[in-house]
Amino acid sequence: MRILQNYVGGKWTDSTSGRRRQSFNPARRDEMICEAQDSTSADAETALHSAHEAFPAWSRTPMPKRAALLQEFLRNLGAREDEFARAITRENGKTLRESRTEFVAALKEAEFQVGQGRRSAGAIRPSEMPGVTCHLRREPLGVVTLITPWNFPLNVACRKLIPAVIAGNTCVLKPSDLTPMTAALLFESLDAGRLPAGVANLVFGRGSVIGDTIVTHPVVKALSFTGSTEVGLGIAGKLAGRDTKIQLELGGKNPLVVLADADLDKAVTAAIIGGFSCSGQWCTSTSRVIVEAGIYDAFLTRLTAETKAIAVGDGSDEATQMGPVCGRQQYETILKFIDVGKREGARLVIGGSPLTEGAHAHGWFIAPTIFADVSPEMVIAREEIFGPVLVMLKARDFDEAVRLANDTVYGLASSIYTRDLAKAQRFIAETDVGLCHVNMPTAYKEPQLEFGGVKESGRGSPEAGESGIEFFTRHKAVYLKEQA
Ligand code: NAP
Repeated sequence: MRILQNYVGGKWTDSTSGRRRQSFNPARRDEMICEAQDSTSADAETALHSAHEAFPAWSRTPMPKRAALLQEFLRNLGAREDEFARAITRENGKTLRESRTEFVAALKEAEFQVGQGRRSAGAIRPSEMPGVTCHLRREPLGVVTLITPWNFPLNVACRKLIPAVIAGNTCVLKPSDLTPMTAALLFESLDAGRLPAGVANLVFGRGSVIGDTIVTHPVVKALSFTGSTEVGLGIAGKLAGRDTKIQLELGGKNPLVVLADADLDKAVTAAIIGGFSCSGQWCTSTSRVIVEAGIYDAFLTRLTAETKAIAVGDGSDEATQMGPVCGRQQYETILKFIDVGKREGARLVIGGSPLTEGAHAHGWFIAPTIFADVSPEMVIAREEIFGPVLVMLKARDFDEAVRLANDTVYGLASSIYTRDLAKAQRFIAETDVGLCHVNMPTAYKEPQLEFGGVKESGRGSPEAGESGIEFFTRHKAVYLKEQA
């Protein structure tokens, strides 16, 4: 069992609290994985101070040189796939295959952002005055705070940290209380890459205890947060009126629309991938499946058969297709939503209960669940469940399907399955989301494209792509005239 320390000013340190928080394997809840520092506001302040001290030298380091230093980190990270995958599975519960997929995605995100270090300096513009050069400089912001969730503990951390430091900022990262091990391994890789002390700092601890300090401290010039809409918007409220840039990546209630002309096998596969990968704990998971009336029954029959075949178990077993959910709180919340669905009259087609016998007896397992004949006003059609639960809605036609897809406060991802290019184009134009897919699952993404939601799914500029570095910099317009 490992004891995880904070990483502050280039050194591994204990919290001044003298306390630690224990982490357990969601597939075997009596198996303790590690203990991480239960940090205090004073620890968080020390980390922020360290980042503040490191900022002047780091921000003056040429950007390609900063990127070159991170190449060393990439080499170290790239050599540790198996170690990371096993750690993610052990503390998050997802299957080893899913953890490896997360690792590869994180590496690609990091590689793309490191590459940006040679091309994101700014822009030259023409001037109407003779002898004047106009250009737009991108400058780092200062100390930035990065807060990450447990569902993609490596990928989300890389998506924030790499562009933040490449852009010349220094940072403090607070990972989720549920997944400290992955964060510790990430900082081991940064440490091995010999980033200057104080550029990247890691503080373990509860958001409810250290959150206010890392968010509202006067040295913090930007906050990049990924997590629930409730917590994210609460934090944004605390920053109103302050000089702190915010980037919030929040919840979703993502629709998969299946039209009558779709390739049904492919659409069913998309619903299975989107609904049950990572036990449905993906911000871009498919949550609502909206199917045109003519094929609704046929689609549901195939989807149910495929769902029945999903092997649920410990994610470290290579045969497992769906792992447990990530901890007691998730387990109880998901089961509460399932209960609400039953009480509000949705038709439970499959699942709908915890798995508690045999190999499932010691973990937080929930059967993959489908509710059919769900009406749009039901709670299960409106709230983010964040678990292995698909809700099916029937649409008369394409227009009603689009209306239902948009009938949500969220706006993260959407997908449509159809062979009709005109309808696909209308869907792209008319769905109110940050990520839109045609004949692909709602969760598909690539690192060179921006990633972020609209409506209650996000605030500020999105992450990844060119926006990765854009968010972590500010513009300065320069007018330069040489004296004769
Ligand atoms: P969460 O409960 O909102 O927590 C997210 C992070 O915020 C954790 O590190 C948490 O720390 C911290 N936190 C909690 N209270 C805080 C406070 N008062 N001040 C500062 N930080 C605080 O979300 P989660 O359960 O970890 O993650 C699931 C949610 O994330 C889902 O809604 C999902 O849709 C969303 N998500 C969105 C995206 C996206 O890109 N849109 C990606 C992944 C996940 P503790 O762990 O210590 O509480």
